[in-house]
Amino acid sequence: MSEIMKKFTPRDKGIKLVSKPNDIDEYDDDPDVLRAVLSCGHVTDPNSLTDCCKTQLDNGQTKFKCPLCEEAWPYDEVRKLAKLSIDEKRSFEEKLGTNTVKNLVDFRVAQDILMKDFPELNPWKDCF
Ligand SMILES: [Zn+2]
Repeated sequence: MSEIMKKFTPRDKGIKLVSKPNDIDEYDDDPDVLRAVLSCGHVTDPNSLTDCCKTQLDNGQTKFKCPLCEEAWPYDEVRKLAKLSIDEKRSFEEKLGTNTVKNLVDFRVAQDILMKDFPELNPWKDCF
């Protein structure tokens, strides 16, 4: 593994740090490691948060959410708590952009199909 393991230090400002086991990765329970409390209340370390969010982006998500409680994580929080590197930030933002555009296109396609095949279901039918 050439990847550098990211970790929190007590100098990390604006992050609520605890030495509790990782909620997202059950095998990560080293008591000497500092982990961050997410806005949803779950505890994570930067590596599992990065992986978790990468998976969500690869699944076409446009928003990040906690796999445990489904609570949304703002991108700002993910960026800070996952300690995203410049490269990771770029790739995250690119994927977020691509996923957002893709969702819009899918929505347009769905809308067109709906209008053509089920005109009576079209909520905008009275506007035309
Ligand atoms: Zn949570």
